[in-house]
This record gives sequence, structure tokens and C-alpha cells, in this order.
Amino acid sequence: MKSRMLVCDVDGTLAESRQPISDEIKEELFKLANRREVCLITGGSYKLLKYQLGKVPEGVILHLMPTMGMHYVLLENKKATKIYSVSLKKKEKDKIIYAIKRLIKQFDLSKLASFEDQIDDRKTQISFSALGKDADLVEKKKFDPTANIRKSWIVFLSKYLPEYEIRIGGTTTLDFTRKGMDKGYGLRRLANFTGISLNKFLYIGDRIFEGGNDDAARRLNIDHYNVGGIAETLEVLKLL
Ligand SMILES: [Mg+2]
Repeated sequence: MKSRMLVCDVDGTLAESRQPISDEIKEELFKLANRREVCLITGGSYKLLKYQLGKVPEGVILHLMPTMGMHYVLLENKKATKIYSVSLKKKEKDKIIYAIKRLIKQFDLSKLASFEDQIDDRKTQISFSALGKDADLVEKKKFDPTANIRKSWIVFLSKYLPEYEIRIGGTTTLDFTRKGMDKGYGLRRLANFTGISLNKFLYIGDRIFEGGNDDAARRLNIDHYNVGGIAETLEVLKLL
């Protein structure tokens, strides 16, 4: 595989949902970063991504794309440089939150967690997590393993938000952004900034399917591995 840019999704691919990336995975990533460019792209915030990544040794260069690549930070010799970030306007956020409130009422979701805990304003994206941001991981995994519950929510929400993209992320989460602002947006801007074309990219993610938040990789014809979980990612990384 002659990829020059390795792009990895984070939750469900490099780490459990919102959990730190293990030393074993980090070791493989940092080794790979010596030989090619490495980018982490995630629905989570920059703050969360920094927490998940932990310490990065001197000399390692990483392209960090939180909130679906609406935000791009280049980490070089421990120095973080913001390349860009694209924010939602207050009016847009209000509209999304109104639709989420309708969803909560329609499906009786207020009993699962407090509204404050269910909503995450990531500036470039609003996220709704049915069980709350920091619910028990086992409970979260049991909630909607086939994503069918959230698919039905998307059908309901689309009526209110035709001009927004709603995607399935994490374990109980829906991510809301402007239309066209999915990971594909981030991947195209990454190609543009680095001068590495998309056909030299390799993408590893756990949701490369219709409606999944990694599906941009498939739509953009990027070489990819759709992994079943972190153990499989480790095997793939070791082969690269
Ligand atoms: Mg994922």
C-alpha cells in the first residue's frame, strides 16, 4: 500500500468512545508518523481529542481534525498551530437545538439523561448523546448497536433540518453540521493544505457505511479499512 497520508477515525477505531488511546496503538501511530503523514479525524471536540491522545513525543508530526474536520490543527514538535476552524452561527445552533427538543419529546428521551448532559456544543457542530456524554460505556454500547434507533431519529429530524447534515457517531450520538460539512470536507481540505492527493490517502474507520460518520472515505474513493474495533485497527497498523 503506497499511501502517503494515513487518516484514522478515533472513537471505535483507535480508542473506545471518548476514552484515551492505548499506549500500544500510540506506539504504532507514532512509528508510522516517521514514514508518512498521519491524521486523526473525529466527531469529538479538540479538547477531547487532546485528552484521548495524551502525551506526544518531540519530533512527531500529527494532523488533528476534531469536529469532523471543521477544525484543523497541525501538531509539530509539541507546538499546535491552528490551520482553520469553521463555526456554526448562533441562529443555526438554535434551529438545531429546537429540532433536538422535538425529538426528545417525540421519543420520550428526557428520562435517559439531563438535557445539558445530552447536548454538546462543539462550536462547529452540535452533538446529541441520548444517554449523556459520560454515561457508562457498557450501557452506551447496548443502547443502539445496530444504529437502527438513531436511523429512525434521523428520519424524524430531517423534516425540521433539511439544510443540515445529521450523522450517526459514537454509540448513542447524533452529530449535526451544515450540509456538506462531513469528514469529506476535512479530508478535501487536508489534501489541499498538504498537497497530497486523495488517491494517496488511506483511511481507517469503524463506520464506513451509508449514514456512518466515516462514509466520506468511501464516497471520495479513498482506500480504506472498515474495522470492527480497536483490536483490528492494531493489526492493520502493524501491517502498514
Ligand atoms: Mg468511529
